[in-house]
Amino acid sequence: MSGALHELSVAELGKRLKAREVSAVEAAQHFLARGSKHASLGAYLATDEAVTLAQARAADARIAAGESAPLLGVPIAHKDIFVTQDFPSTAGSKMLEGYRSPFDATVVRKLAEAGMVTLGKLNCDEFAMGSSNENSAYGVAKNPWDTSRIPGGSSGGSAVAVAARLAPAATGTDTGGSIRQPASFCGITGIKPTYGRASRYGMIAYASSLDQAGPMARTAEDCALLLSALCGPDPDRDSTSLDVPAEDFTRSLNGSLEGLRIGVPKEFFAEGVTADVRAAIDAALQQYEKLGAKRVEISLPRTELAIPVYYIIAPAEASSNLSRFDGVKFGHRAQHYGDLLEMYKRTRAEGFGDEVKARIMIGTYVLSHGYYDAYYLQAQKIRRMIADDFQQAFRQCDVIAGPVAPSVAWKLGEHGGDPVADYLADIFTLPGSLAGLPGMSIPAGFGAGGMPVGLQLIGNYFGEAKLLNAAHRFQQATDFHLRKPEGF
Ligand code: GLN
Repeated sequence: MSGALHELSVAELGKRLKAREVSAVEAAQHFLARGSKHASLGAYLATDEAVTLAQARAADARIAAGESAPLLGVPIAHKDIFVTQDFPSTAGSKMLEGYRSPFDATVVRKLAEAGMVTLGKLNCDEFAMGSSNENSAYGVAKNPWDTSRIPGGSSGGSAVAVAARLAPAATGTDTGGSIRQPASFCGITGIKPTYGRASRYGMIAYASSLDQAGPMARTAEDCALLLSALCGPDPDRDSTSLDVPAEDFTRSLNGSLEGLRIGVPKEFFAEGVTADVRAAIDAALQQYEKLGAKRVEISLPRTELAIPVYYIIAPAEASSNLSRFDGVKFGHRAQHYGDLLEMYKRTRAEGFGDEVKARIMIGTYVLSHGYYDAYYLQAQKIRRMIADDFQQAFRQCDVIAGPVAPSVAWKLGEHGGDPVADYLADIFTLPGSLAGLPGMSIPAGFGAGGMPVGLQLIGNYFGEAKLLNAAHRFQQATDFHLRKPEGF
Protein backbone atom coordinates (compact mmCIF):
# COMPACT_ATOMS: atom_id res chain seq x y z
CA MET A 1 0.00 0.00 0.00
CA SER A 2 2.54 2.57 1.09
CA GLY A 3 4.58 2.05 -2.09
CA ALA A 4 1.77 3.67 -4.06
CA LEU A 5 1.09 6.51 -1.65
CA HIS A 6 2.91 9.04 -3.77
CA GLU A 7 0.78 8.12 -6.78
CA LEU A 8 -2.39 9.23 -5.03
CA SER A 9 -3.91 12.59 -5.69
CA VAL A 10 -4.64 14.94 -2.81
CA ALA A 11 -8.32 14.01 -3.03
CA GLU A 12 -7.63 10.26 -2.97
CA LEU A 13 -5.08 10.51 -0.19
CA GLY A 14 -7.54 12.56 1.86
CA LYS A 15 -10.13 9.80 1.47
CA ARG A 16 -7.72 7.05 2.53
CA LEU A 17 -6.69 9.08 5.55
CA LYS A 18 -10.30 9.60 6.51
CA ALA A 19 -11.01 5.86 6.12
CA ARG A 20 -7.91 5.27 8.27
CA GLU A 21 -6.38 3.02 5.64
CA VAL A 22 -3.25 5.07 6.10
CA SER A 23 -2.22 7.42 8.89
CA ALA A 24 -0.97 10.97 8.47
CA VAL A 25 2.30 9.89 10.09
CA GLU A 26 2.77 7.11 7.51
CA ALA A 27 1.98 9.48 4.66
CA ALA A 28 4.40 12.10 5.99
CA GLN A 29 7.16 9.55 6.49
CA HIS A 30 6.66 8.19 3.01
CA PHE A 31 7.01 11.60 1.39
CA LEU A 32 9.93 12.65 3.59
CA ALA A 33 11.74 9.48 2.53
CA ARG A 34 11.08 10.27 -1.13
CA GLY A 35 12.34 13.80 -0.59
CA SER A 36 15.65 12.47 0.79
CA LYS A 37 15.95 9.84 -1.91
CA HIS A 38 15.63 12.48 -4.62
CA ALA A 39 17.48 15.25 -2.80
CA SER A 40 19.68 15.78 -5.86
CA LEU A 41 16.72 17.40 -7.63
CA GLY A 42 17.24 20.38 -5.34
CA ALA A 43 13.51 20.83 -4.66
CA TYR A 44 13.70 21.26 -0.89
CA LEU A 45 15.56 24.02 0.93
CA ALA A 46 14.50 22.90 4.40
CA THR A 47 12.92 19.89 6.03
CA ASP A 48 12.54 18.99 9.70
CA GLU A 49 11.31 15.50 10.38
CA ALA A 50 10.41 16.20 14.01
CA VAL A 51 8.23 19.19 13.09
CA THR A 52 6.51 17.33 10.24
CA LEU A 53 5.81 14.25 12.32
CA ALA A 54 4.44 16.33 15.19
CA GLN A 55 2.00 17.97 12.75
CA ALA A 56 1.12 14.54 11.34
CA ARG A 57 0.40 13.16 14.82
CA ALA A 58 -1.86 16.12 15.50
CA ALA A 59 -3.72 15.41 12.25
CA ASP A 60 -4.08 11.75 13.20
CA ALA A 61 -5.54 12.83 16.53
CA ARG A 62 -8.10 15.00 14.74
CA ILE A 63 -9.02 12.07 12.46
CA ALA A 64 -9.27 9.73 15.45
CA ALA A 65 -11.59 12.24 17.13
CA GLY A 66 -13.94 11.86 14.18
CA GLU A 67 -13.18 15.11 12.39
CA SER A 68 -13.80 14.91 8.69
CA ALA A 69 -12.18 17.34 6.30
CA PRO A 70 -10.85 16.64 2.81
CA LEU A 71 -7.31 17.87 3.45
CA LEU A 72 -6.90 16.52 6.96
CA GLY A 73 -3.55 14.72 7.24
CA VAL A 74 -2.52 15.35 3.61
CA PRO A 75 1.10 16.51 3.27
CA ILE A 76 2.05 19.71 1.45
CA ALA A 77 5.27 21.67 0.99
CA HIS A 78 5.53 25.44 0.78
CA LYS A 79 7.45 27.70 -1.53
CA ASP A 80 10.15 29.32 0.57
CA ILE A 81 8.63 32.74 -0.08
CA PHE A 82 5.96 32.04 2.57
CA VAL A 83 7.15 32.68 6.11
CA THR A 84 6.79 29.80 8.53
CA GLN A 85 7.35 29.68 12.23
CA ASP A 86 8.62 26.11 12.32
CA PHE A 87 10.97 26.15 9.34
CA PRO A 88 13.49 28.73 8.16
CA SER A 89 12.25 31.15 5.45
CA THR A 90 14.83 32.35 2.97
CA ALA A 91 12.97 33.50 -0.18
CA GLY A 92 15.84 31.78 -2.00
CA SER A 93 18.18 34.56 -0.85
CA LYS A 94 21.40 34.62 1.07
CA MET A 95 20.00 37.74 2.69
CA LEU A 96 17.60 35.61 4.72
CA GLU A 97 19.80 32.58 5.32
CA GLY A 98 18.59 30.88 8.50
CA TYR A 99 15.87 33.49 9.07
CA ARG A 100 13.04 32.35 11.35
CA SER A 101 9.73 34.13 11.22
CA PRO A 102 7.79 34.70 14.43
CA PHE A 103 4.54 33.88 12.59
CA ASP A 104 3.06 31.82 9.75
CA ALA A 105 1.85 33.35 6.49
CA THR A 106 -1.96 33.38 6.31
CA VAL A 107 -1.98 30.85 3.44
CA VAL A 108 0.23 28.50 5.46
CA ARG A 109 -1.93 28.97 8.53
CA LYS A 110 -5.15 28.28 6.62
CA LEU A 111 -3.81 25.09 5.10
CA ALA A 112 -2.57 23.97 8.50
CA GLU A 113 -5.98 24.67 10.00
CA ALA A 114 -7.47 22.51 7.25
CA GLY A 115 -5.22 19.76 8.65
CA MET A 116 -2.41 19.73 6.11
CA VAL A 117 1.01 18.57 7.24
CA THR A 118 4.05 20.61 6.18
CA LEU A 119 6.84 18.58 4.58
CA GLY A 120 9.23 21.49 4.27
CA LYS A 121 10.17 24.56 2.26
CA LEU A 122 10.78 24.61 -1.47
CA ASN A 123 13.41 26.15 -3.66
CA CYS A 124 12.61 29.28 -5.68
CA ASP A 125 14.27 32.13 -7.50
CA GLU A 126 15.59 34.78 -5.14
CA PHE A 127 12.66 36.88 -3.92
CA ALA A 128 10.59 35.18 -6.66
CA MET A 129 12.50 37.02 -9.38
CA GLY A 130 13.09 34.66 -12.25
CA SER A 131 11.72 32.22 -14.76
CA SER A 132 14.11 29.29 -14.37
CA ASN A 133 14.95 28.86 -10.68
CA GLU A 134 18.56 29.63 -11.65
CA ASN A 135 18.44 32.81 -9.56
CA SER A 136 18.15 30.88 -6.29
CA ALA A 137 21.08 31.47 -3.94
CA TYR A 138 20.82 27.79 -2.99
CA GLY A 139 21.33 26.20 -6.39
CA VAL A 140 18.88 25.36 -9.10
CA ALA A 141 16.05 22.83 -8.82
CA LYS A 142 16.13 20.37 -11.70
CA ASN A 143 13.29 19.37 -13.97
CA PRO A 144 12.49 15.68 -13.29
CA TRP A 145 11.48 15.15 -16.94
CA ASP A 146 15.06 15.94 -17.93
CA THR A 147 17.46 16.92 -15.19
CA SER A 148 19.60 18.88 -17.64
CA ARG A 149 16.72 21.34 -17.98
CA ILE A 150 15.30 24.10 -15.82
CA PRO A 151 12.01 23.48 -13.99
CA GLY A 152 10.78 27.00 -14.65
CA GLY A 153 10.40 29.68 -12.06
CA SER A 154 10.12 31.26 -9.77
CA SER A 155 8.16 28.44 -8.04
CA GLY A 156 10.56 25.86 -9.50
CA GLY A 157 10.98 23.77 -6.35
CA SER A 158 7.21 23.54 -5.98
CA ALA A 159 6.74 22.21 -9.50
CA VAL A 160 9.63 19.75 -9.13
CA ALA A 161 8.33 18.41 -5.81
CA VAL A 162 4.87 17.74 -7.24
CA ALA A 163 6.03 16.38 -10.61
CA ALA A 164 8.57 14.02 -9.00
CA ARG A 165 6.00 12.88 -6.42
CA LEU A 166 7.99 14.25 -3.49
CA ALA A 167 4.80 15.97 -2.29
CA PRO A 168 1.18 15.56 -3.33
CA ALA A 169 0.83 19.33 -3.53
CA ALA A 170 2.71 22.56 -3.01
CA THR A 171 2.06 26.25 -2.67
CA GLY A 172 3.45 28.71 -5.16
CA THR A 173 3.24 32.40 -5.83
CA ASP A 174 2.64 34.10 -9.12
CA THR A 175 3.66 37.70 -9.76
CA GLY A 176 4.12 37.41 -13.50
CA GLY A 177 3.70 33.70 -14.15
CA SER A 178 5.54 31.88 -11.39
CA ILE A 179 2.79 29.33 -10.73
CA ARG A 180 1.69 28.80 -14.32
CA GLN A 181 5.08 28.62 -16.04
CA PRO A 182 6.80 26.05 -13.77
CA ALA A 183 3.56 24.03 -13.70
CA SER A 184 3.66 24.03 -17.50
CA PHE A 185 7.35 23.10 -17.67
CA CYS A 186 6.97 20.23 -15.18
CA GLY A 187 3.66 18.84 -16.44
CA ILE A 188 1.50 19.62 -13.43
CA THR A 189 -1.57 21.78 -12.71
CA GLY A 190 -1.44 25.18 -11.04
CA ILE A 191 -3.80 28.08 -10.49
CA LYS A 192 -3.22 31.71 -9.64
CA PRO A 193 -6.46 33.22 -8.34
CA THR A 194 -7.80 36.71 -8.95
CA TYR A 195 -5.53 39.28 -7.33
CA GLY A 196 -6.75 39.79 -3.77
CA ARG A 197 -8.46 36.43 -3.32
CA ALA A 198 -5.61 34.97 -1.30
CA SER A 199 -3.97 36.87 1.51
CA ARG A 200 -0.45 38.17 0.89
CA TYR A 201 0.25 38.34 4.62
CA GLY A 202 3.51 36.54 5.27
CA MET A 203 4.39 36.18 1.60
CA ILE A 204 7.79 37.82 1.34
CA ALA A 205 6.94 40.75 -0.91
CA TYR A 206 8.29 41.09 -4.44
CA ALA A 207 5.79 43.31 -6.32
CA SER A 208 2.81 43.87 -4.06
CA SER A 209 0.30 44.91 -6.72
CA LEU A 210 0.92 41.64 -8.57
CA ASP A 211 1.94 38.97 -6.00
CA GLN A 212 -0.65 36.26 -5.50
CA ALA A 213 -0.55 32.81 -3.90
CA GLY A 214 -1.99 29.64 -5.32
CA PRO A 215 -1.82 25.85 -5.28
CA MET A 216 0.19 23.51 -7.49
CA ALA A 217 -0.83 19.85 -7.69
CA ARG A 218 -1.33 17.15 -10.27
CA THR A 219 -5.02 17.64 -10.98
CA ALA A 220 -7.54 20.44 -11.28
CA GLU A 221 -9.67 18.68 -8.66
CA ASP A 222 -6.77 18.88 -6.19
CA CYS A 223 -6.22 22.53 -7.03
CA ALA A 224 -9.93 23.15 -6.38
CA LEU A 225 -9.68 21.54 -2.95
CA LEU A 226 -6.56 23.50 -2.02
CA LEU A 227 -7.75 26.81 -3.41
CA SER A 228 -10.98 26.51 -1.43
CA ALA A 229 -8.90 26.21 1.73
CA LEU A 230 -6.33 28.92 1.09
CA CYS A 231 -8.49 31.79 -0.25
CA GLY A 232 -10.58 34.23 1.70
CA PRO A 233 -10.48 37.72 3.14
CA ASP A 234 -7.79 38.71 5.63
CA PRO A 235 -8.83 42.30 6.38
CA ASP A 236 -6.71 42.79 9.48
CA ARG A 237 -3.51 41.68 7.82
CA ASP A 238 -3.67 42.34 4.09
CA SER A 239 -5.53 45.47 3.06
CA THR A 240 -5.60 44.31 -0.56
CA SER A 241 -7.29 41.02 0.27
CA LEU A 242 -10.80 41.21 -1.11
CA ASP A 243 -13.95 40.92 0.87
CA VAL A 244 -15.11 37.89 -1.08
CA PRO A 245 -15.97 34.85 0.99
CA ALA A 246 -14.09 31.61 0.37
CA GLU A 247 -15.88 29.28 -2.01
CA ASP A 248 -16.01 25.51 -2.27
CA PHE A 249 -14.58 25.24 -5.76
CA THR A 250 -15.03 21.47 -5.89
CA ARG A 251 -18.77 22.04 -6.22
CA SER A 252 -18.36 23.56 -9.67
CA LEU A 253 -16.38 20.68 -11.13
CA ASN A 254 -19.18 18.99 -12.99
CA GLY A 255 -20.50 21.69 -15.24
CA SER A 256 -20.90 20.93 -18.92
CA LEU A 257 -18.65 22.72 -21.40
CA GLU A 258 -21.42 22.78 -24.01
CA GLY A 259 -21.39 26.22 -25.59
CA LEU A 260 -18.44 27.51 -23.52
CA ARG A 261 -16.77 30.18 -25.63
CA ILE A 262 -13.00 29.79 -25.58
CA GLY A 263 -11.24 32.90 -26.78
CA VAL A 264 -7.94 32.29 -28.50
CA PRO A 265 -5.87 35.47 -28.75
CA LYS A 266 -4.12 35.63 -32.10
CA GLU A 267 -1.16 37.36 -30.44
CA PHE A 268 -0.52 34.18 -28.42
CA PHE A 269 0.43 32.38 -31.62
CA ALA A 270 2.85 34.96 -32.92
CA GLU A 271 6.28 34.07 -34.24
CA GLY A 272 8.54 32.91 -31.46
CA VAL A 273 6.13 30.20 -30.37
CA THR A 274 7.85 26.94 -31.24
CA ALA A 275 6.14 24.45 -33.55
CA ASP A 276 5.86 21.73 -30.89
CA VAL A 277 4.10 24.06 -28.44
CA ARG A 278 1.80 25.32 -31.18
CA ALA A 279 0.85 21.74 -32.12
CA ALA A 280 0.14 20.68 -28.53
CA ILE A 281 -1.99 23.77 -27.87
CA ASP A 282 -3.88 23.28 -31.12
CA ALA A 283 -4.65 19.69 -30.21
CA ALA A 284 -5.81 20.78 -26.75
CA LEU A 285 -8.15 23.34 -28.28
CA GLN A 286 -9.57 20.66 -30.56
CA GLN A 287 -10.16 18.51 -27.50
CA TYR A 288 -12.15 21.37 -25.99
CA GLU A 289 -14.23 21.56 -29.15
CA LYS A 290 -14.97 17.85 -28.79
CA LEU A 291 -16.17 18.60 -25.28
CA GLY A 292 -18.66 21.08 -26.66
CA ALA A 293 -16.75 24.34 -26.36
CA LYS A 294 -16.69 26.89 -29.17
CA ARG A 295 -13.46 28.43 -30.34
CA VAL A 296 -13.54 32.19 -30.89
CA GLU A 297 -10.65 34.20 -32.27
CA ILE A 298 -9.94 37.23 -30.12
CA SER A 299 -7.25 39.87 -29.91
CA LEU A 300 -5.18 41.12 -26.99
CA PRO A 301 -3.38 43.81 -28.97
CA ARG A 302 -1.02 44.94 -26.22
CA THR A 303 0.38 41.50 -25.42
CA GLU A 304 3.92 42.49 -26.42
CA LEU A 305 3.81 45.61 -24.28
CA ALA A 306 3.21 43.48 -21.19
CA ILE A 307 6.94 42.71 -21.05
CA PRO A 308 8.29 46.29 -20.79
CA VAL A 309 5.35 47.33 -18.62
CA TYR A 310 5.83 44.47 -16.17
CA TYR A 311 9.60 44.90 -16.07
CA ILE A 312 9.09 48.53 -15.04
CA ILE A 313 6.30 48.07 -12.50
CA ALA A 314 7.59 44.91 -10.82
CA PRO A 315 11.15 46.22 -10.26
CA ALA A 316 9.73 49.58 -9.09
CA GLU A 317 7.72 47.85 -6.39
CA ALA A 318 10.58 45.47 -5.62
CA SER A 319 13.04 48.31 -5.09
CA SER A 320 10.73 49.68 -2.44
CA ASN A 321 9.82 46.33 -0.85
CA LEU A 322 13.42 45.19 -0.62
CA SER A 323 14.60 48.34 1.15
CA ARG A 324 13.70 46.62 4.42
CA PHE A 325 16.68 44.29 4.02
CA ASP A 326 19.18 46.72 5.46
CA GLY A 327 21.12 44.62 7.94
CA VAL A 328 19.09 46.04 10.83
CA LYS A 329 15.62 44.60 10.65
CA PHE A 330 16.01 41.20 9.01
CA GLY A 331 18.54 38.62 8.07
CA HIS A 332 22.11 39.08 6.98
CA ARG A 333 24.38 41.85 8.27
CA ALA A 334 27.89 42.44 6.93
CA GLN A 335 30.57 41.62 9.48
CA HIS A 336 33.04 44.32 8.61
CA TYR A 337 32.05 47.93 8.14
CA GLY A 338 32.93 51.44 9.25
CA ASP A 339 29.89 53.67 9.58
CA LEU A 340 26.16 52.98 9.25
CA LEU A 341 26.01 53.77 5.54
CA GLU A 342 28.81 51.35 4.83
CA MET A 343 27.01 48.70 6.89
CA TYR A 344 23.92 49.09 4.66
CA LYS A 345 25.97 49.00 1.50
CA ARG A 346 28.04 45.97 2.40
CA THR A 347 25.06 44.07 3.77
CA ARG A 348 23.10 44.56 0.57
CA ALA A 349 26.10 43.92 -1.69
CA GLU A 350 26.76 40.62 0.09
CA GLY A 351 23.18 39.50 0.69
CA PHE A 352 21.52 40.06 -2.70
CA GLY A 353 22.25 38.16 -5.91
CA ASP A 354 22.87 39.78 -9.29
CA GLU A 355 19.32 39.66 -10.65
CA VAL A 356 17.88 41.17 -7.48
CA LYS A 357 20.46 43.96 -7.55
CA ALA A 358 19.71 44.65 -11.21
CA ARG A 359 16.01 44.94 -10.47
CA ILE A 360 16.54 47.21 -7.48
CA MET A 361 18.59 49.49 -9.72
CA ILE A 362 16.01 49.45 -12.52
CA GLY A 363 13.24 50.06 -10.02
CA THR A 364 15.01 52.94 -8.36
CA TYR A 365 15.79 54.45 -11.75
CA VAL A 366 12.21 54.35 -13.07
CA LEU A 367 10.94 55.89 -9.86
CA SER A 368 13.48 58.66 -9.74
CA HIS A 369 12.72 62.32 -10.41
CA GLY A 370 12.73 62.99 -14.12
CA TYR A 371 12.12 59.39 -15.12
CA TYR A 372 9.01 58.68 -13.11
CA ASP A 373 6.73 60.30 -15.71
CA ALA A 374 8.59 58.84 -18.65
CA TYR A 375 8.64 55.23 -17.45
CA TYR A 376 6.65 54.42 -14.34
CA LEU A 377 3.61 56.53 -15.11
CA GLN A 378 3.51 55.42 -18.75
CA ALA A 379 3.73 51.81 -17.63
CA GLN A 380 0.80 52.30 -15.27
CA LYS A 381 -1.28 53.77 -18.08
CA ILE A 382 -0.53 50.86 -20.39
CA ARG A 383 -1.25 48.45 -17.55
CA ARG A 384 -4.76 49.86 -17.40
CA MET A 385 -5.13 49.50 -21.19
CA ILE A 386 -4.05 45.86 -20.98
CA ALA A 387 -6.72 45.25 -18.34
CA ASP A 388 -9.29 47.00 -20.56
CA ASP A 389 -8.29 44.81 -23.52
CA PHE A 390 -9.17 41.76 -21.46
CA GLN A 391 -12.58 43.20 -20.58
CA GLN A 392 -13.16 43.82 -24.26
CA ALA A 393 -12.17 40.22 -25.01
CA PHE A 394 -14.44 38.80 -22.31
CA ARG A 395 -17.43 40.28 -24.15
CA GLN A 396 -16.76 37.69 -26.83
CA CYS A 397 -15.69 34.70 -24.75
CA ASP A 398 -15.97 33.04 -21.33
CA VAL A 399 -12.41 31.79 -20.96
CA ILE A 400 -9.20 32.66 -22.78
CA ALA A 401 -6.80 29.89 -23.82
CA GLY A 402 -3.33 29.71 -25.25
CA PRO A 403 0.19 28.59 -24.45
CA VAL A 404 1.73 29.33 -21.04
CA ALA A 405 5.14 29.88 -22.57
CA PRO A 406 6.51 30.07 -26.12
CA SER A 407 8.64 26.92 -25.70
CA VAL A 408 9.16 23.91 -23.45
CA ALA A 409 11.64 24.13 -20.57
CA TRP A 410 15.07 25.12 -21.78
CA LYS A 411 18.43 23.67 -20.78
CA LEU A 412 20.16 24.76 -17.60
CA GLY A 413 22.46 27.65 -18.50
CA GLU A 414 20.97 27.93 -22.00
CA HIS A 415 20.10 31.59 -21.57
CA GLY A 416 23.68 32.12 -20.47
CA GLY A 417 22.81 34.61 -17.76
CA ASP A 418 21.00 36.86 -20.26
CA PRO A 419 18.03 38.10 -18.24
CA VAL A 420 16.25 39.48 -21.31
CA ALA A 421 15.97 35.97 -22.76
CA ASP A 422 14.15 34.97 -19.56
CA TYR A 423 11.94 38.07 -19.61
CA LEU A 424 10.79 37.39 -23.18
CA ALA A 425 9.64 33.90 -22.21
CA ASP A 426 7.12 35.48 -19.79
CA ILE A 427 5.16 37.10 -22.62
CA PHE A 428 1.96 35.06 -22.26
CA THR A 429 1.70 35.03 -18.48
CA LEU A 430 2.42 38.71 -17.84
CA PRO A 431 -0.74 40.23 -19.41
CA GLY A 432 -3.10 38.34 -17.09
CA SER A 433 -0.94 39.21 -14.09
CA LEU A 434 -0.95 42.91 -14.91
CA ALA A 435 -4.75 42.77 -15.17
CA GLY A 436 -5.04 40.82 -11.88
CA LEU A 437 -6.95 38.00 -13.56
CA PRO A 438 -7.04 34.35 -12.50
CA GLY A 439 -4.98 31.98 -14.62
CA MET A 440 -4.17 28.28 -14.78
CA SER A 441 -1.77 25.92 -16.41
CA ILE A 442 -2.86 22.38 -17.22
CA PRO A 443 -0.83 19.57 -18.80
CA ALA A 444 -1.76 19.55 -22.48
CA GLY A 445 0.80 17.41 -24.26
CA PHE A 446 4.49 17.00 -24.89
CA GLY A 447 6.92 18.83 -27.12
CA ALA A 448 10.60 18.87 -27.98
CA GLY A 449 12.70 16.43 -25.96
CA GLY A 450 9.54 14.82 -24.58
CA MET A 451 9.03 17.85 -22.34
CA PRO A 452 5.58 18.79 -21.04
CA VAL A 453 3.55 21.60 -22.60
CA GLY A 454 1.01 23.50 -20.52
CA LEU A 455 -2.21 25.04 -21.74
CA GLN A 456 -2.99 28.37 -20.15
CA LEU A 457 -6.57 29.22 -19.24
CA ILE A 458 -7.32 32.80 -18.20
CA GLY A 459 -10.63 33.72 -16.62
CA ASN A 460 -12.37 36.96 -15.82
CA TYR A 461 -12.25 38.29 -12.22
CA PHE A 462 -13.53 35.65 -9.79
CA GLY A 463 -13.76 33.14 -12.62
CA GLU A 464 -11.76 30.50 -10.73
CA ALA A 465 -14.68 28.05 -10.58
CA LYS A 466 -15.16 28.28 -14.33
CA LEU A 467 -11.44 27.73 -14.96
CA LEU A 468 -11.22 24.77 -12.61
CA ASN A 469 -14.27 23.16 -14.17
CA ALA A 470 -12.88 23.63 -17.69
CA ALA A 471 -9.56 22.15 -16.53
CA HIS A 472 -11.23 19.24 -14.74
CA ARG A 473 -13.34 18.35 -17.77
CA PHE A 474 -10.22 18.38 -19.94
CA GLN A 475 -8.46 16.09 -17.47
CA GLN A 476 -11.37 13.65 -17.49
CA ALA A 477 -10.94 13.34 -21.25
CA THR A 478 -7.12 13.25 -21.40
CA ASP A 479 -4.31 11.59 -19.47
CA PHE A 480 -1.45 14.11 -19.77
CA HIS A 481 -1.79 14.95 -16.09
CA LEU A 482 -1.34 11.27 -15.19
CA ARG A 483 1.93 10.78 -17.07
CA LYS A 484 5.02 10.94 -14.97
CA PRO A 485 8.70 11.45 -15.51
CA GLU A 486 10.71 8.24 -15.75
CA GLY A 487 12.43 7.16 -12.57
CA PHE A 488 9.98 8.86 -10.24
N1 GLN B 1 9.50 35.64 -14.37
C1 GLN B 1 8.84 36.76 -13.78
C2 GLN B 1 9.84 37.58 -13.02
O1 GLN B 1 10.96 37.24 -13.03
C3 GLN B 1 7.71 36.31 -12.90
C4 GLN B 1 8.13 35.87 -11.56
C5 GLN B 1 7.00 35.63 -10.63
O2 GLN B 1 5.86 35.45 -11.05
N2 GLN B 1 7.31 35.64 -9.35
O3 GLN B 1 9.54 38.56 -12.41
